[in-house]
Amino acid sequence: PLPVGAALRRPTRPAIVRWGDHVVRVGGDAPVVVQSMTNTDTADAIATAVQVKELAQAGSELVRITVNTPEAAREVPAIREQLDRMNISVPLVGDFHYNGHKLLAQFPECAQALSKYRINPGNMGGGKKRDDNFAQMIEVACRYDKPVRIGVNWGSLDHELMARMMDENGKRAQPWTAQAVMRDALVVSAISNAQRAEELGLSPNAIVLSCKVSHVQDLITVYQDLSARCDYPLHLGLTEAGMGSKGIVASTAALSVLLQQGIGDTIRISLTPEPGGDRRREVQVAQEILQSMGLRAFTPMVVACPGCGRTSSTVFQELANSIQGYLRDQMPVWKNRYPGVESMNVAVMGCVVNGPGESRHADIGISLPGTGEVPSAPVYVDGERTVTLKGDHIAQEFQAIVEQYVQR
Ligand code: SF4
Repeated sequence: PLPVGAALRRPTRPAIVRWGDHVVRVGGDAPVVVQSMTNTDTADAIATAVQVKELAQAGSELVRITVNTPEAAREVPAIREQLDRMNISVPLVGDFHYNGHKLLAQFPECAQALSKYRINPGNMGGGKKRDDNFAQMIEVACRYDKPVRIGVNWGSLDHELMARMMDENGKRAQPWTAQAVMRDALVVSAISNAQRAEELGLSPNAIVLSCKVSHVQDLITVYQDLSARCDYPLHLGLTEAGMGSKGIVASTAALSVLLQQGIGDTIRISLTPEPGGDRRREVQVAQEILQSMGLRAFTPMVVACPGCGRTSSTVFQELANSIQGYLRDQMPVWKNRYPGVESMNVAVMGCVVNGPGESRHADIGISLPGTGEVPSAPVYVDGERTVTLKGDHIAQEFQAIVEQYVQR
């Protein structure tokens, strides 16, 4: 089906991010790109390569790594080499703050092995020093033909710009709130640095912008403004979104509003991992946001009812979970073998009230028996009731039917 939001995508000029023959387009009419970031020490090349591989296999189309020290910069080519050896072609984005100009100049192999540089103009010193450092990084990007993301952040906003804008605000007949000036300063910082990068020779098709803040309403306002004032592709993300459901809900709330307005060409969901948590969670959440909105499809979706007093057992919840896990696990193989499988819908329902109806709407559905119903589970395929499952092996039998459907 035509993605609902597709017609609304705001036109941007695409930026090309590549590693070898592998090309990721950000912006233009390209699908919204999912990206993520490692949390390993980049100086530990093996651990970082392993995590990049996991994120890429989970569906991250770009992976950002911290490049903060000479030890980290020295290992970037080794990380790239490890990934190439494992046939992982995902482009690597280097995240630079404070010393990026020095690291890129000192380690040309690192500059080459990265596919894109993230530059934070608020973390490059002040005055002429800041201008020189920025120019040095852009010069390296031009030399190696790499795109950059000019990533402005609420927590590291250019102090001089902010002070100047607060000063100008004081002269207004009706001064804005400090919060409004800060939001404006973020947008001005991103756009003015992008224009400077172009003046320094960087192609306008090699620039992506982001203005990250940590509050939902601020993020929406900032990106609406940024989007109205330029046509660079935009990287969306709520920074420091938080842990667990808070981070997921806040990111989803902010990004959904913007994506629905056609704003956003690539997204990252910044979640604080639980101790021992899986970094791939942020990729999964990003994919689920895009798929729930009908903008992209990654994995067959399982529709499951929440259960209620009519639910006779937890079988259907277990079945819904196991089917979702099974579908997700199969995708690395299925997506190459069965094109379009990611758009499939599966329904797992707990009783006769909504079970048959929802199951008919899905490609495959099963309606388990609720309290007081005959203990049997009718299965629907392409809207038709095909078979009724009974007994202790309903989960395995239903899984087999799903697999046969996919193969067929
Ligand atoms: Fe309850 Fe049945 Fe609705 Fe599921 S389908 S929530 S079990 S009424």
